[in-house]
Amino acid sequence: MATVATSLLPAEVRPVKYHISLSPNLTAFTFAGEETIEIEVQQPTSQIVLNAAELEIQEAYLLQDGQRAPAQAIAFDAEQETATLTFAAPLPTGAMQLFMRFTGILNDKLRGFYRSEYTLPDGAKRAMATTQFEAPDARRAFPCWDEPAHKAKFEISLIIPDTLTAISNMPIVSETPQASGTKLVRFAESPIMSTYLLAIMVGEFECVEAQAEGTLVRVWTTPGKKEQGRFALDVSCRLLSFYNNYFGIPYPLPKLDLIAIPDFAAGAMENWGAITYREVALLVDPAHSSAATKQRVAIIIAHEIAHMWFGNLVTMAWWNDLWLNEGFASWIEYKAVDHLFPEWDMWTQFIFSDTGPAMSLDGLKNTHPIEAEVKTPHDINELFDAISYSKGAAIIRMLEQFLGEETFRRGLVHYLSAHEYGNARTEDLWASLAHVSGKPVKEIMDTWTKQPGYPVVEVRHRDRQGEPPELTLAQSRFVYDYDPEHDEPDPSLWRIPVAVKSGATTSAGAASPFLTIIEERQASVPLPGGVAAEGDQPWIIVNAGRTGFFRANYSAEMWERARPAIETQALPTAERLGLAADAFALMRAGYLPATQFLSLAMAYAQEREYPVWSDLAGSLGWLANILAAEAFEPQFKSFARDLLRPIVAHLGWEARPDESHLDALLRGIVLHEIGHYEEAPVIAEARSRFNRFIDDPQAVHPDLRSTVLNLAAFGGDRSTYDALREVERRATLQEEKLRALAALTHFQQPDLLRDALDLSLSPVVRSQDTIRVVAGVAANPHGRDLAWGFVQANWSEFDQRYGGGGFLLTRLIESVTSSFTTLAKEREVAEFFLAHPVPSATRTVQQCLERIRINTRWLSRNRMEVAAWLMAYA
Ligand SMILES: [Zn+2]
Repeated sequence: MATVATSLLPAEVRPVKYHISLSPNLTAFTFAGEETIEIEVQQPTSQIVLNAAELEIQEAYLLQDGQRAPAQAIAFDAEQETATLTFAAPLPTGAMQLFMRFTGILNDKLRGFYRSEYTLPDGAKRAMATTQFEAPDARRAFPCWDEPAHKAKFEISLIIPDTLTAISNMPIVSETPQASGTKLVRFAESPIMSTYLLAIMVGEFECVEAQAEGTLVRVWTTPGKKEQGRFALDVSCRLLSFYNNYFGIPYPLPKLDLIAIPDFAAGAMENWGAITYREVALLVDPAHSSAATKQRVAIIIAHEIAHMWFGNLVTMAWWNDLWLNEGFASWIEYKAVDHLFPEWDMWTQFIFSDTGPAMSLDGLKNTHPIEAEVKTPHDINELFDAISYSKGAAIIRMLEQFLGEETFRRGLVHYLSAHEYGNARTEDLWASLAHVSGKPVKEIMDTWTKQPGYPVVEVRHRDRQGEPPELTLAQSRFVYDYDPEHDEPDPSLWRIPVAVKSGATTSAGAASPFLTIIEERQASVPLPGGVAAEGDQPWIIVNAGRTGFFRANYSAEMWERARPAIETQALPTAERLGLAADAFALMRAGYLPATQFLSLAMAYAQEREYPVWSDLAGSLGWLANILAAEAFEPQFKSFARDLLRPIVAHLGWEARPDESHLDALLRGIVLHEIGHYEEAPVIAEARSRFNRFIDDPQAVHPDLRSTVLNLAAFGGDRSTYDALREVERRATLQEEKLRALAALTHFQQPDLLRDALDLSLSPVVRSQDTIRVVAGVAANPHGRDLAWGFVQANWSEFDQRYGGGGFLLTRLIESVTSSFTTLAKEREVAEFFLAHPVPSATRTVQQCLERIRINTRWLSRNRMEVAAWLMAYA
């Protein structure tokens, strides 16, 4: 096996400890810095190469035994983002100190050391300085060995105006007044850690705080918002004790800060001891925040706090193992929140929010293996995708369920203890899990991490004379762009944990399914439950609990047998969801006739569960998009309305005092969906509630606000547009502002959608939120072409803002191109990106083109049959 590099920098010199002093200038948006790095020269060399980007180094010298040796030359390589210091004589091996004086810029690109704007309660605007270093951007704040394996200790000090507050990874040890209204703030020395996990914030902040198992926990906001941090504070304290327990290692730092940053590229960032968040990912206002926001905040906090151990205490050796870091955190966030809020049914939600999107992306021919090769840190931009996060999480869940939860936990504790304050690779985790379980973990997991895609298991039932019936299971790679006549057979094989379960027509089946691993192309397994009684037609499921990362396809007869157990909801929620999700994907790829999916969908007419509806709404939405230009579109909408009417009638518009969190989420979704399928009474009701909301925001429950605003726009006009703009203007809560902005993308009139697009690039919309607005217009069938035209016309602006790295540009490309349905559009998109290449999104463009081909092919294969079925239905 090829060895993977863990460093691009020469190995002669390594850092041991950094003493860094920075003084940011919040009016000129620059900073000046000095650092002394204790280094260890391992082999004699006359050059030191380290990372620096957009920095100027004014002075550099070595210090050993009181002797100064200035660098003779300082050369920058902009491409490699390195600085090379050349000295007159070779440095001897051993310990010495490297001093540098440098300056840099507080940029507006949301990475490195950057500025973010906030508004004080009196309306005054201010700027703060803050950092975002993952992946390769610590080098924009100070020269350093900016690679995860170069762990070192850090002692940070700042010179800042004495009216401001400073936050970093470690607690403040002293604040000393300096000349002309400034102060020197010194932070305690950090444990050994990677550069990408450092954090520095300077601005006006206030906080709420509490103690959790001996750790000081604080939630920081800009002035006037600290009370909105109460929910996050409570959740964080409870999570800290959950993780202390689960990992068996106490939280390693003396304090934990969570900081809301108004301008932030990602959702949150796990800086050790100083986690940064977008405001919407941390703040909850009991009067204005929805249940969905609370859940999202809890999930994101759980994700980031888990990284304090998994990622920060033990860090990947190189970026090719990013998936392990993110997949793990994306898995355990559910486990932790499930522990805090069991009534939220997080693991069933996981199926549509992680397994589903991962399978959707990974079903493309242009996907990539989980373990991807990363030659430069810039290659990792495209790895912040659903494969690393969601597929990573889903296969970890699959493994945990196969090994058993407690065995899996003991393996993790073994791994963390063996590698704490160091670096590790995927193989190290597999070794720990194999050690405690005695199972061939690496052999199983390699089939999921080292090859792209996942299998579809074809299930056939075989009755045998005088013996128990058995199932034959045949695996092959699942792809949406499935063409059995022209595709070469794919040789991939997976080691698939299957969980087989069967039951009589309307029973839930045995509590514990039959578990086994299949690894051949074809395998036979006994059907549990013995010989079926005469005339009994049991349903059969091979992915019970829906924890396997594969699709299951059954014979037409077996699909039919599941129908009564779906209709009566005898099958558990996860399995009803799983069957709907598989049937839809198989239909999209051409394994199943489209009409078979439509017919199966009718079995869900009495469905009452949020996770199932979330998934089904997405599937219907895909069809609505693809059928938008067809003559029989009205018949499809009528079909969708009929399917949704019973659940809409069951839930109504008013929240019941004792209703569940999940019903609160469900109401918003089904009303939103049926409204967009043009259910006139629902649109009228939304309009009247919107009018009341304009007079008094409290008149509409936060859980319904998105739905009411979106539907008002869907049925609205210019005056509605103006009213929504006013809602956005007067709101102080980011969540409310974003709700109003998102609603602007739901109009049907092209001129209003054009205005929304123009607004997205104006100063009204924060750079981090622009793409949400454009994506919203693109998702609207009336705005699809407008959004694509807008992106092309403003390409240089988008490229300038987001092209330097990060995942906002890939999200943009995906959202504006993936839902086209003609070959002409495929050509147009391909030609545009040929003329405007995006090196950081090459794969994304290929994926988008593939999605358009899949849409186009689906339509040409299914148009007639679906039209006939819908006409007959109506
Ligand atoms: Zn993460």
